[in-house]
Amino acid sequence: MLVAHPSDKVRASVMKRYLVQTHGCQMNVHDSRRIEEVLAKQGYERTDDSQLADLIVVNTCSVREKAEHKLLSLLGTMKPLKEERPGLVLAVAGCVAQQEGAKLLSRVPHVDIVLGPDNIAELPGLVAHVEQQKSPIARTVFDVHDPRFLDAGAELSLRDREVSSFVTVMKGCNERCTFCIVPTTRGPERYRSAREVIDEIRALARGGVKEITLLGQTVNSWHAPGEDAPDLDDEHGNPKNMGESKFAQLLRDIAREVPELARLRYTSPHPRHVTDALVRAHAELDVLPAHVHLPVQSGSNRVLKRMLRRYTREHYVARARALQASRPRFTLSTDFIVGFPGETEADFEETLSLVHEVGFSAAFCFKYSPRPHTPALKLEDDVTEAQKDDRLARLFAAVEVTQRKNLESLVGTRTTVLIEDLGREGDDGIARWKGRSERHEIVHVEAPPGLDLRGAVLTASIERANAHSLMGRVEGDLSHLPPRAVTVPVMIPSDQRRRLPVTKSA
Ligand code: SF4
Repeated sequence: MLVAHPSDKVRASVMKRYLVQTHGCQMNVHDSRRIEEVLAKQGYERTDDSQLADLIVVNTCSVREKAEHKLLSLLGTMKPLKEERPGLVLAVAGCVAQQEGAKLLSRVPHVDIVLGPDNIAELPGLVAHVEQQKSPIARTVFDVHDPRFLDAGAELSLRDREVSSFVTVMKGCNERCTFCIVPTTRGPERYRSAREVIDEIRALARGGVKEITLLGQTVNSWHAPGEDAPDLDDEHGNPKNMGESKFAQLLRDIAREVPELARLRYTSPHPRHVTDALVRAHAELDVLPAHVHLPVQSGSNRVLKRMLRRYTREHYVARARALQASRPRFTLSTDFIVGFPGETEADFEETLSLVHEVGFSAAFCFKYSPRPHTPALKLEDDVTEAQKDDRLARLFAAVEVTQRKNLESLVGTRTTVLIEDLGREGDDGIARWKGRSERHEIVHVEAPPGLDLRGAVLTASIERANAHSLMGRVEGDLSHLPPRAVTVPVMIPSDQRRRLPVTKSA
């Protein structure tokens, strides 16, 4: 029998509070925002204190190494909370939830709700079910036939004074990369209408958001729902680059219909869908950055084939070159996996040479580890841990070189900077602000105290390159900027604030 804790009775008369813990990629961070939006509409209030929460949602990613194991141990730490307050509802969302479904309820009996990414809108109803029926419930059904895309919610962006926000344009993935669980946990590709996407972006821009990142597992494969996908393959099944790009047209439509938007990014594009039309959009639309994060995973054709990436190194390099030629100082960052089954030293050296050939400005590098339910499980994980460690260290060192080269090449240039946040205010009375260049470098600038630079788009001349960022001097007069209000900071859980390094999409 469930026994109410005294504090549950007190809370019954006040607004309910939720806490969302996010672990994983940008898609998970975005899903957490949808969860918050759904709960806020039901009158829930956010808390960072698990002792005060009526509902805790753990939103997890199964892409990360030992994700399931980590989830189980995290849930274990929450058991005393549930014992102390049986009225607390504990939900698990995200890819692990989708993957495990109802099995998770039997493995962790103190979990009340298992929620798939396509079932976020149902969360309040599921909470009501748990509270009334006193029984756990799993809901992990893909909305393949009637896809739903939840709005980012301009209210939350306004509340948090967001400079930058995500907007989903598609979900799921039709690729079958052998190391990736996403096709299993997110289902087949489903697309959102251009009208919905543009309306949401307009609402966010009117709420003060300056930068939008379009989100999708293979974001540049977007086309309107119900339309046929453009045929991008030649007769051998290799990408032929060309053809029309519905995604490029979407970018043009957004730029035309929301002219107040300062920046429009997208993640993660797939190299097979970097069409000439998309390259032209980068050349012609000022709102697009001079940067793309284009995951490559390996520089070896043999490994790319085993990964089932469906492009060659030569194709990737040609697309990278086209993008780099579209705008001055265009940069590319990427993702790499080292130690994929069968990767030889010669294969790895091809990855190293690709780093220098493309000149990546940054890269997220990971060691391969077998993931449940992925096709690569059938391949022998024959690269030793020591070899993986060694290759990872050498890859980091190679990327450091190209990253540093890019940063140093920018000293003496001018760049626009979108200011994201106050870095620190020193005893010297100077405020140090942090922003991003039109590529994606972090740029620090100084300003007189008391001014609010957040969300401002400024021109800065770059005076110095640090190891991973730039120091700039703001050009022009700042007196038109508003004074900085004294605010009580909204605490966002640290795991949601930092840039999470795992994006196993595209
Ligand atoms: S790595 Fe990206 S493109 Fe490949 S299956 Fe996963 S989500 Fe799809």
